[in-house]
Amino acid sequence: MDEPLKGDAMPGRLTAHEAASRVEALRREIEHNTYLYYALDAPEISDAAYDSLMRELRELEEAFPELASSDSPTKRVGGYVEKQFSAVRHDRRMYSLDNAMDEAELEAWMDGIQKLYGSLPALCCELKIDGSSIALTYRDGLLVQAATRGDGTTGEDVTANVMEVADIPRALRREALEEVANPDVPLEVRGEIYMPKASFDALNLEAQAEGKKQFANPRNAAAGSLRQKDPKVTASRDLATFLYAISRNDAIRVKGQWELLAWLKRAGFHVNPDVALCQTREEVLAFCAASLEKRGSLPYEIDGVVVKVNDFALQDAAGFTSRAPKWAIAFKFPPEEKTTLLRDITVQVGRTGALTPVAELDPVLVAGSVVARATLHNEDEVHRKDVRVGDTVIVRKAGDVIPEVLGPVISLRPADALVWEAPKTCPSCGSPVIREEGEAQLRCVSIDCPAQALERLLHWVSRDAMDIDGMGEEIIGRLVEIGRMNDVADFYSLTVEELEQLHMGRTNKDGNAISLGRTTAAKLIDAIQASKDRDLARVICGLGIRHIGKNTAAELVETYPSMEALKDASEEALQAVHGIGQRAAASIWTFLRTPDNIDVIERLQDAGVTMVAAQRSGQDKPQTLSGLTFVLTGTLTNLRLSREEAADALKAYGAKVSSSVSKSTSFVAVGDNPGSKYDKAVKLGIPVLDEAQLKTIIDTGKPPVL
Ligand code: NAD
Repeated sequence: MDEPLKGDAMPGRLTAHEAASRVEALRREIEHNTYLYYALDAPEISDAAYDSLMRELRELEEAFPELASSDSPTKRVGGYVEKQFSAVRHDRRMYSLDNAMDEAELEAWMDGIQKLYGSLPALCCELKIDGSSIALTYRDGLLVQAATRGDGTTGEDVTANVMEVADIPRALRREALEEVANPDVPLEVRGEIYMPKASFDALNLEAQAEGKKQFANPRNAAAGSLRQKDPKVTASRDLATFLYAISRNDAIRVKGQWELLAWLKRAGFHVNPDVALCQTREEVLAFCAASLEKRGSLPYEIDGVVVKVNDFALQDAAGFTSRAPKWAIAFKFPPEEKTTLLRDITVQVGRTGALTPVAELDPVLVAGSVVARATLHNEDEVHRKDVRVGDTVIVRKAGDVIPEVLGPVISLRPADALVWEAPKTCPSCGSPVIREEGEAQLRCVSIDCPAQALERLLHWVSRDAMDIDGMGEEIIGRLVEIGRMNDVADFYSLTVEELEQLHMGRTNKDGNAISLGRTTAAKLIDAIQASKDRDLARVICGLGIRHIGKNTAAELVETYPSMEALKDASEEALQAVHGIGQRAAASIWTFLRTPDNIDVIERLQDAGVTMVAAQRSGQDKPQTLSGLTFVLTGTLTNLRLSREEAADALKAYGAKVSSSVSKSTSFVAVGDNPGSKYDKAVKLGIPVLDEAQLKTIIDTGKPPVL
């Protein structure tokens, strides 16, 4: 896998040019992860990592105001409206919350509030339920519509699914209706839909038994269960709710949050009982501390406390930023720690042959997700932490998808706990392992190691590299097992016929071996063929050279736009490339001088895989779009291209592609869920193209006729 982008750069040290490219990279990475999280309910990075990327982006935008943009993820409510649902426009915008990561930040927020109002107003403190936002519309007291938060302005219509959730009232209680200010106006009630911890465990156990994908945490499970095509699936999941808001504060004859919660209860909603109306800072801090204490014993997940200015008139006076109310803050809990049993320490072989010890744990729920495995990094780390098989260990997560073993509870160590010994041979191929000087990692250096081959091949097909759809671990694993594949060039000699016959090592109920079949085989070969035209940066990333990930590959291609040029570059010249350090330069230089690797590259080239960067190869194309500037926004669903790929295709005809809309933009091409760039284009009167028009331009290179 590629090195993930880490939110750790220091804005003060960057030049304006470096900051601009970092901002663009951060926005791309955040957009991608926002999509995985909200649209697919399947995050790939930890919440802490996501928050850190967001923080860095915010700091850069503050340090370089010229880079600020109204459609930056820092200015928006994260969320999507997927095609399978109809869109619902919210009565009023739904917001996210700003975070206070520790007590000092919470105090600073209270300082600001005190300054704003002259004195500290009463603050309503509630638990921050870790679920998914929901908006319920009642007309004449009856539930008529339910929607997700979506992008804040527009949500997804999940009415049919919500009708299957038992604890949502279909009708409001009569006595509560009498307090509605204007009965003719529909009422939008808001809150959180969540999955209790026990139900989440049961659901994941069931998924595991059936070999299905498990949810990362109860929050994703709740969102995923709510966003189902078939309401029967939602009905089969145990979902519950806590409601805490209405879209218009003047809709009910109450004057503040505390009274509103009481009204919601009278109306028949579930309202969380752990609330406090605090008059002083000390009371707020005490409520946060007590809630943190309680966290583990609650039957549902909470990830903090929400502190809200109680009085609605004061809330109105403070208002909102583009993504959050100024009158509320989410105090996030610190990392959670749990203890569990260390059952075993296994060894994983990566694609570069690195051997990584992995802690196999008794599954335990930590900070919202089940942890059953955790990396122990390397031999030294295992001994430094002194963890032994049989130990009770402390596992920590910072609201994180990536868990960490902190160390053993020595007092609970059984007499027969085993000190781990690093393997002398590779667990995959049996070759002796080595440890290079200055390295912490043990390494298998055998070229024939099947575990490495599998990891290398999986890396080649991954999203950041050649993005070959459908080629997964099961199929590649089988091809490695039968000796048909060893290196990435082998993909390009596969045929439909042989894939069609490929037995997957399983049998159907009649005892016959299951093979892939013609349709799947043909689709896979199409996907492999399509990958030949991917950009050179992807090819370089896909080769899996140590220290060369997606971003460094892109930097290399900027300076060396062909494989030939790269091969000719000296180690010193490589080091001079922006973003390439000494280790990366040495690694790529050695890689391109190793006979086996040269052979693979030549075979790839013979198979027709791109060895020239997109922009340069594009100079063969007539520069029919030169002088035109395009902006792409939304998901190019019908075109089946990422925005990056569509941008490369336009650049090949000489077009400029920019990330923000301005007066000098010639066209804005719009896919699904376009966001604010579309609004800006309309405002500035810039012609807007749909996907079909964009496809014609990419296919023909002709500027659009409007
Ligand atoms: P959030 O969850 O931090 O806070 C806002 C939400 O809190 C509200 O929309 C509301 O639904 C909820 N909430 C719960 N109890 C509440 C109460 N009592 N009163 C008011 N609101 C309450 O913000 P978000 O915008 O929903 O999500 C952002 C977070 O999601 C980030 O902090 C990030 O960690 C995570 N995220 C992670 C990834 C990833 O890839 N791991 C991607 C996107 C977002």
